[in-house]
Amino acid sequence: MNLRHARMTRRRLLTGGSAMVATFAIAGRSSAATDVDIVVVGAGAAGIAAAHALRAAGRKPIVLEARGRVGGRAFTDTSLGPGYDAGAMFIHWAERNPWVQIARELGVETTTEPWGSGFRVFADGRPMADADRRRRRDAFNQIDRRLETVDLGARDMSIAELLSDLGPDSAPVAASGLLLSIGEESSRISARDYQRLWAGDDLVVPAGYGNLVARSAGGLDIRLNQPVEAIRWDGSTVTVATTSGELRANGCIVTVPVGVLKAGAIRFTPELPAATRDALAGLHMGALTKIALKVEGDRFGIAPGASFLEAGAPERLMNFDMFPDDRDIVIGYCGGDYARKLSEAGDEEARAHVVDLLARMVGENFRKTATALSFPAWWTDPFARGSYSICDPGHEKAREALAQPIGGRLLIAGEATAGGGAMTVGGATLAGRAAAATLARLKA
Ligand SMILES: Cc1cc2nc3c(=O)[nH]c(=O)nc-3n(C[C@H](O)[C@H](O)[C@H](O)COP(=O)(O)OP(=O)(O)OC[C@H]3O[C@@H](n4cnc5c(N)ncnc54)[C@H](O)[C@@H]3O)c2cc1C
Repeated sequence: MNLRHARMTRRRLLTGGSAMVATFAIAGRSSAATDVDIVVVGAGAAGIAAAHALRAAGRKPIVLEARGRVGGRAFTDTSLGPGYDAGAMFIHWAERNPWVQIARELGVETTTEPWGSGFRVFADGRPMADADRRRRRDAFNQIDRRLETVDLGARDMSIAELLSDLGPDSAPVAASGLLLSIGEESSRISARDYQRLWAGDDLVVPAGYGNLVARSAGGLDIRLNQPVEAIRWDGSTVTVATTSGELRANGCIVTVPVGVLKAGAIRFTPELPAATRDALAGLHMGALTKIALKVEGDRFGIAPGASFLEAGAPERLMNFDMFPDDRDIVIGYCGGDYARKLSEAGDEEARAHVVDLLARMVGENFRKTATALSFPAWWTDPFARGSYSICDPGHEKAREALAQPIGGRLLIAGEATAGGGAMTVGGATLAGRAAAATLARLKA
């Protein structure tokens, strides 16, 4: 989830980040057909946690990762020079989040997010009138108020339905906040699932959450550039196939995002049981997206850390973090169908769109200062297929069902199976650990 924004200094991010990456090296290797103990598919937070837990229990896990890097949807991108977290940024519900402890053990600093210096709301590039801003704020607060009072005992419903009696003027505005936190349209979010998500304090990682997750993979046997294409699970072993060959294992934990599973990128033989397929049918991926611009030469009098929200149309919210921590970078973020369309349109159109928005807010000269783009379009990324799992209204049992063992040797784990911790790195880590413990109980 992405509830607020972090501020990282450029110096801390770059020095911290590069030092971390240098502390371990994971080479791409070919995997010939061979017998191994356990295969973990995916080296994001869940896969890394599962592999560590298996090792601690005396097992010998091999992690197969499709990308040329570890961390999955936790990724600190330095392609613009100033680094930023292109995926996860916040250690949510820090009171119980395992990443607080992991960071401490690795000697990585975590901190509370410094307050930004100014929040401005725009409607079609012009400052929004005070009365409209107040209406917006009141409408936003309705979601929590209604969730506290509504009785979801009888029937789950969508957040849109929960808010429907606010009327056609306020309901869309109230729901629009979810585009930036959950990354999805309110009509597709289960109110009951949303209600049970854990809450708490947020911390940030000045050196980058993605860098921290990557660093935590040190010491594991991870094989990069190994997209898994097929898994056979009906025998006394599990056979996992990549283009490089096959591994025959006693057990397997699959941690790829539900979007990847739903797209059929991994062929299961026999097909997954009906209960697992039903669980997948009740989940889908949201589309929270960041779009970062390197901005050089002029800051137009804007204080570092200011937030500019374009809210003229509730279905097309875009929030910009302006020069966070004094870095020459502006980070926009948006969600839902708006983000899906931008992702499908590609880099050039996305860049033209955000530059247009910012030029209207800041002035035409902004166009000259935006020099480079980083667009982590998770929605069109074949190894993510979205930002994080959303539970469809009426399918609030899907997360638990997806975590049920398959055939005694195969498990699916990741943020989608994390219950109240779903949609987060911390949840993925707890789910990975839980899957490793289940595999041990199954004696796989
Ligand atoms: C824009 C954005 C902002 C976010 N903000 C936050 C936040 O602030 N705080 C927070 O806690 N969470 C946030 N999240 C969510 C968080 O990033 C995820 O919940 C978490 O990283 C998921 O971890 P995971 O291990 O379940 O999945 P992933 O990190 O997706 O790991 C799965 C791995 O499987 C690999 N894979 C895919 N297909 C295959 C294949 N066929 N074979 C082998 N490997 C494969 C992938 O490459 C990936 O490395 C955000 C996500 C996004 C996109």
